[in-house]
Amino acid sequence: MAVSAPADDPVPFADPAADQAPLAEALAAAAARVVRSGRYILGAEVEGFERELAEASGVAHAIGVSSGTDALLAMLAAAGVGPGDEVVTSPFSFFATAGAIVRAGARPVFADVDPLTLNLDPDAALERLGPRTKAVLVVHIFGRCMPLAALPAACAARGIALLEDAAQAVGAVDAGGRRVGAGTTAAALSFFPTKNLGGFGDGGAVLTDDAAFAAQVRRLRVHGADGKNHHVAIGGNFRLDALQAALLRVKLPHLPAWTAARRRLAARYRAGLAGAALALPPDEAGCVWNQFVVRVPAGRRARLSVELARAGIGSEIYYPTPLHLQPALRGLGHAPGDFPIVERACEEVLALPLHPALADTTVDRVVSTVRASLTA
Ligand SMILES: *Cc1c(COP(=O)(O)O)cnc(C)c1O
Repeated sequence: MAVSAPADDPVPFADPAADQAPLAEALAAAAARVVRSGRYILGAEVEGFERELAEASGVAHAIGVSSGTDALLAMLAAAGVGPGDEVVTSPFSFFATAGAIVRAGARPVFADVDPLTLNLDPDAALERLGPRTKAVLVVHIFGRCMPLAALPAACAARGIALLEDAAQAVGAVDAGGRRVGAGTTAAALSFFPTKNLGGFGDGGAVLTDDAAFAAQVRRLRVHGADGKNHHVAIGGNFRLDALQAALLRVKLPHLPAWTAARRRLAARYRAGLAGAALALPPDEAGCVWNQFVVRVPAGRRARLSVELARAGIGSEIYYPTPLHLQPALRGLGHAPGDFPIVERACEEVLALPLHPALADTTVDRVVSTVRASLTA
């Protein structure tokens, strides 16, 4: 017989197994179907997933690839980004955003972020466009779809690509009603297990409305082949496994309900933490809340995360270092002070647990632990 959990049960920062536990039977059946099929890479499962993902995303084409990182890489390559080119992007992201630009042979050119949303500031990005700019790569950080403002018109006027790192933002909509993947050249998704549509290993996708762009991503995914043993470009092995596709097909129909749960939990955090000595993330109907990130005055963050850990509550710092100050990008020649808004954010951000299976009572426990730490 089940006993009720003690109040101090550990609260993991993320819990993908709990989120998908209700789907255990359907997932096992899908996995067994793939095991029996004898087709383990691409094939009908991947094609079926691509159709369903494109439809759910409201775009014409979805191309399944091996990870979010490879989605970025294939997308940049399909946009023609290569040596000598510059790509304007945000310094506030997971390293893959900048890493993919460098791996494509190009130079990341950063612009500072909006102090409230922590997404790339579109006006700052416009100022960084120059004769070598081949693309702008925006990042929808923590699941908040950034307003593109004048960027689509500016990119169209220059004939350059407008790309989206939507690894954290599947299904997100901006304040003007634009969905991720609409009205841009392409968007990259990740199915890393703790993303909103998480797989059971690595996976990703490129979304686009452009048939020629989609065809190029499909070629790049298989070493630039346009037919058997006929290679027209240098691509890579960016293929999605049939097993991932089959399991993601089980999860995809549940994504709207999980997004609704994330929004409800985010609202509960916002209500519970109102008036506390921290800054809350802006409320926004179209945000899909991959992370719930608060900002605490720099001197108090370390203590807060220690006190959360002592109470058994997981938290994470996304991200402690802006991309322009990462050691691997030292060659770009940046120094502290180059992008003061993002540098300050990196000293203050703290992500609290947020995933669909999180109980309201657990959110309340996190809230009271945070409040107690900040008033002590
Ligand atoms: C997760 C993530 C990626 C990389 O995705 P992987 O599937 O882990 O390769 C890229 N950009 C951002 C913003 C991410 O959060």
